Amino acid sequence: MSRLPVMASKRVLANSENFPAAQPVQKKSRKEPEAVKPPVAATVLGTRRAPVTATRAPVSRPMRGVGAATVAVGPSRGVFKAPVASTVAKGGKMTAGVAASEPKAGGVGGPPRRLPWDMKGKVSDMKGKLQDYQTKLKSGNLERENLKVSLAELQSRAAEMEKDLSENRERLQALCGVQEELERVSSEKKMLQAEVNNLQDKNRVLETLRHSQETEIQTLKMRLSVQDSTLASTQAGLRAAEEEVRSLKELAARLESELHAREMERRRLHNTIQELKGNIRVFCRVRPQVSGGLGKHIQLPANDDKAITLAKTEESHTGKTTETQKNYNFTFDRVFGPDATQQEVFEEISLLVQSALDGYNVCCFAYGQTGSGKTYTMEGAEDNRARGMIPRAVQQIFKTTHELAAQGWEFSFTASFVEIYNECLRDLLYAGKGGKRPEHEIRKSIGNKMTITNLTYQKVSNEDQVLCLIALANQNRSTAQTTQNDRSSRSHSVFQLDIEGVNVGRDVKSSSTLCLVDLAGSERMVKSQSQGERFKEMTAINGSLSNLGIVIAALANKETHVPYRNSKLTYLLQGCLGGNSKTLMFVNIAPEPDSFGETLNSLRFASKVNDCVIGTASANRK
Ligand code: ADP
Ligand code: MG
Repeated sequence: MSRLPVMASKRVLANSENFPAAQPVQKKSRKEPEAVKPPVAATVLGTRRAPVTATRAPVSRPMRGVGAATVAVGPSRGVFKAPVASTVAKGGKMTAGVAASEPKAGGVGGPPRRLPWDMKGKVSDMKGKLQDYQTKLKSGNLERENLKVSLAELQSRAAEMEKDLSENRERLQALCGVQEELERVSSEKKMLQAEVNNLQDKNRVLETLRHSQETEIQTLKMRLSVQDSTLASTQAGLRAAEEEVRSLKELAARLESELHAREMERRRLHNTIQELKGNIRVFCRVRPQVSGGLGKHIQLPANDDKAITLAKTEESHTGKTTETQKNYNFTFDRVFGPDATQQEVFEEISLLVQSALDGYNVCCFAYGQTGSGKTYTMEGAEDNRARGMIPRAVQQIFKTTHELAAQGWEFSFTASFVEIYNECLRDLLYAGKGGKRPEHEIRKSIGNKMTITNLTYQKVSNEDQVLCLIALANQNRSTAQTTQNDRSSRSHSVFQLDIEGVNVGRDVKSSSTLCLVDLAGSERMVKSQSQGERFKEMTAINGSLSNLGIVIAALANKETHVPYRNSKLTYLLQGCLGGNSKTLMFVNIAPEPDSFGETLNSLRFASKVNDCVIGTASANRK
């Protein structure tokens, strides 16, 4: 029994059976003998726990059984406090017990000190003590049981609280999430608010704009209504104008067909005039002397532009009179003196060029001795005033076709340039290498049209193109000139322009050829001087020129047989000579006295042609 306090002092806490009895004895007996207040511990601990519960437990769950709960919690922290209370509670008695075991001189409230011999008393004391201890033990056990129950309760409550805590944590977490969301939403709200403000500002601006636009719309509506009424009146005007246009169109169509009829009539009349003038005409042109003017032997009557007199002064055989004069008078369709300009000459020809556009074949020759001005008349010089018949005719053709286009006429042109030398054909528009020149032959194609094989037929649509072709022909001629001296004067140059016209609206077509021929020099050579190649040339020239005269005469006399085939020149020009064709012959003469003989020959040749023509013309007049 005396060892109980010792056991308590060792704090064998693991054994719950020992702890309620042992612990209080040691501690309380020494330090707090007077404090016998079990509720103190509960109060003390209760007050210490209060804040903890306040912070940890939810308000809705108040602490149950304050004292017991406090005791139970104590051990969990490793500080044993509950037993203090119980010990203290019983401490008073235990102290008394201890005091009883030690003899005291006299204390207040304790059992009387037994005398050594009073064993019975001592036993009774001991029994009393034992009873006390047993009572304490019982109450301790009871308290322990209570505490166990409290502990279990507390544990379950702790578990509950733990559960609550984790729930609350989750809630807290959820709340944190909600808070974050709330913050995000609030910042979003701020942004949206800013945006709303911005939009409101914009809206205000737009509102102002809308207002001004509404005002503008009102103004425009007013204007529109004004314009509507203007439009209505304009439309009425337009309808009237359309009606007028329609009637004008009808009038234009009527006038157009009238114009066409007049154009056809003009062509007919023009042709009649040309026929009355003669389908074959001869013009004489006298070249000026180098020093200007004319030699005495050529006389041109001032009041007659159709006559020319060649006068020869001869010394008298008898010697009685110093000299006698022999006059050779000739008349032609027209005689141009040395002062006649290219323009004046062309004016006569332009009528024939018009005939070519009207669909009649036209042939224009330049006949005369070398140096008499044939090439000058046909081609002229580069100077604008000196331009010859070919460039002027071409210019007139393209100018007139533009005018006729307004009446629905469309034209296409094909140009060719050929040289006839020694009865051989040579392409003057040949652009290939010199050594590879092809052979040419004249063929008669459909419609009595003569074509030359392998010849360059160049489509042209403007004046410049034709001028380029003339330049190319001159280049080709000058190349031949270097190999054969003065070759161009001993060859015929034939420029041909095929004209195709169509008036689709009127279903009218026209087809014609304009031929401009620069003939070889007509001078006769002294037979004894001409040998070999020269003789051959002379024969060819004489042959073709005299044949030309014969053909023209035959045509003028309307003979049944026209010897076209006798020379290349007439054969080539067969389609352009005779029938409705217009033929014009220039007889070019040189004014120098020493050309007298050749001039006389030329005039005689031309006169022969002209006489035939006059004969025919007069016959026509009958
Ligand atoms: P052909 O061709 O008949 O041999 P050309 O036309 O070459 O003769 O003329 C010989 C020269 O006389 C050339 O220099 C030419 O410029 C000049 N000539 C010819 N006819 C005229 C004229 N009507 N007015 C001025 N010069 C002319
Ligand atoms: Mg010439």
